Amino acid sequence: MLMSIKFYNTLSRCKEEFSPIEEGKVGMYTCGPTVYDYAHIGNFRAYVFEDLLRRYLKYRGYQVYQVMNLTDVDDKTIAGAKREGIPLGEFTQRYIDAFFEDLDTLNIERAEVYPRATEHIGDMVNLVKRLIESGYAYEAKGSYYFRVSQFKDYGKLSHMKLRGLRVGARVSSDEYEKDEASDFALWKAWDPEDGDVFWDTDLGKGRPGWHIECSSMSMKYLGKHFDIHTGGVDNIFPHHENEIAQSEGATGVRFVNYWLHCEHLIVEGRKMSKSLGNYYTLRDILAKGYDPRAIRHLLLSTHYRQKLNFTFDGLEASQEAVERLRDFVANLKRLTGEGEMDVVERLTSRAREEFRQALDDDLNISEGWGALFRLVREVNKLISQGKMGGREGEIVLKVVRDFDRVLGVLREEEEEEIGKEELELIRKRDKARKEGNWELADRIREELLQRGITLEDRPEGTTYKVRRK
Ligand SMILES: [Zn+2]
Repeated sequence: MLMSIKFYNTLSRCKEEFSPIEEGKVGMYTCGPTVYDYAHIGNFRAYVFEDLLRRYLKYRGYQVYQVMNLTDVDDKTIAGAKREGIPLGEFTQRYIDAFFEDLDTLNIERAEVYPRATEHIGDMVNLVKRLIESGYAYEAKGSYYFRVSQFKDYGKLSHMKLRGLRVGARVSSDEYEKDEASDFALWKAWDPEDGDVFWDTDLGKGRPGWHIECSSMSMKYLGKHFDIHTGGVDNIFPHHENEIAQSEGATGVRFVNYWLHCEHLIVEGRKMSKSLGNYYTLRDILAKGYDPRAIRHLLLSTHYRQKLNFTFDGLEASQEAVERLRDFVANLKRLTGEGEMDVVERLTSRAREEFRQALDDDLNISEGWGALFRLVREVNKLISQGKMGGREGEIVLKVVRDFDRVLGVLREEEEEEIGKEELELIRKRDKARKEGNWELADRIREELLQRGITLEDRPEGTTYKVRRK
């Protein structure tokens, strides 16, 4: 029997066998970005982890339905729009566009839905009304708060001691960091600071709190009870604790089965912060000339429940790892003749088994990379011994491509697509060389180099490597 996947569930604090509510299907909610700035590499560590989770579930045959919210109204977005003197929607659209560009850069698969907070105000108002009816919410000076003392399970996710609970203490700020459990805002009455950002609703004139946004949009698209909810560890308290209180308070049923949280990213061993000068957006790293594939590899290199130390040495090592893999694939495609099929079949089935066992175990990615690079080393040995033929090459290529459905660092189609016009140039150069037109041949070689393509003239013909920055 095929073993099942195990995930570490923050709620139970142990690894549990994954069993979806509906067979073969997974509903998954991911806390998305607050669109007031470009996302930094710490944010992308979490999004790459969620992409790994999504891709691996698909690899294991599940149909995944993922929802990621876009927080396009909160204190920070309102302040940003005000600072620039432009409408909120215009301000946030810039960062929404940038966010999707960045996802593509890192080869992060798109979720099925990206609901925006501002387009779901009515759903949030309805949820608050239900909480009022069930006695969990109350009004104070036009704002509505969740009465934490009323929800007996409060603290079950973060495992906080409820001694910190002060009955009636209220916080209006979305991102409070107090260890104390306090009544938190569901709906904030209009404040002159908010300018023209408000909605006139049954709750009065105001705007939603951040936490209610995620409860409301997750349940709208995934139902009141769904499989997986993810985020960074800093979301556990208060954000996710509050989501549970709001959702379960309103519906009376269990909200989420598996809570998966990704650890922080640190830079060169230290907490990333603007004041230390080690704060990087994805765009900052790209501007230094690094390959997005290497960045993705580095972000994926450490188990998601461990702190990831982002270093520029590590990025160089990731660059080498990715290039080794691409050279390997190029070599496999060049193989011809007869090889030793039984040896290759043994190697590949072992590699598949190791890869699956590693990732089944709470996405143990370092073991996953280990399985892949062990295969690379062993096959390279076979190549040097003349034991790899064309058919054997195809079998290994199939395995590497399958693993890459999860890892996402090869991006072969992209290379081939980019290559069309350039292939024409390579052919033109070949012709020039045959005709002894060295000047033209050199000029084309130079042009291709400018485009990130290195040519290598071999006795059997010219080969190329794409190294785009
Ligand atoms: Zn959220």
